[in-house]
Amino acid sequence: MVTKKSELNITEDGNLKKAYQKYRILKQEVDHWQQERKSYWLGMLNLAEKPPYLPIMELPSEAIIELWQRLNDAAEVKISDSDLREIWKQISDNQEVMDEEMSTRFQMAISGVAQLASEMANEKKVPTQRLGDDPHECITCPVCGEVSTLAVLTPPNGQRMMHCTSCSFEWPVKRVGCLHCGSENAKKQMFLKNAAFPGIEMVVCQLCGHYFKEIDARELYVQDYMWEDIKSLPLNFATELWLSEQTKTNNQIH
Ligand SMILES: [Zn+2]
Ligand SMILES: [Zn+2]
Repeated sequence: MVTKKSELNITEDGNLKKAYQKYRILKQEVDHWQQERKSYWLGMLNLAEKPPYLPIMELPSEAIIELWQRLNDAAEVKISDSDLREIWKQISDNQEVMDEEMSTRFQMAISGVAQLASEMANEKKVPTQRLGDDPHECITCPVCGEVSTLAVLTPPNGQRMMHCTSCSFEWPVKRVGCLHCGSENAKKQMFLKNAAFPGIEMVVCQLCGHYFKEIDARELYVQDYMWEDIKSLPLNFATELWLSEQTKTNNQIH
């Protein structure tokens, strides 16, 4: 079987280094908070009987606000707890209420708390039930219920796991085929990569038009998947461009 591979064109992003410095500072705060507060908040978490074991919207809001406030302090942004509570309430009602930087800190606070739930799920060895036939279920995190677009091929045999960028939970999925539509038609799968991102491939399904990112952890050691996903966003943009050009070409043929 011949796998179809192609090189993506990537444009350099000069803002990345700056973004990383900001991210590192916030990430360190999350790590410290987790070390300090983990045992307390773990005692407050309850996992459901079946997936999703602890959806994002059911995480204790006080834990999120506590961590969020630490991140705001680290970024030297002053805002009261009651204002954050108000924002959290509006988010529950699906309102866009934050600027980009506040939103980043909020996302990191959510992740920081959701990771505790994920750790708990791992400790309890909860069944992941994600090897079924429903493709959408396969890519939905059994712990937090968010859809993941990041797959990891794990050592030593390259077993394919989904990695949740919200809570860090990992669960096994089938080794081949499209994770979105379930198609195993190898002729319709395209593997796009770029030399600037060794060990990462974008797996594009030409049947359903979706793609996911796949990191080969046998080739690329990743300490922080959230950052690796952000850092390799140029691959996502390039893939979307590639897909739209494909659609144009296909339309011209027909
Ligand atoms: Zn998750
Ligand atoms: Zn597909």
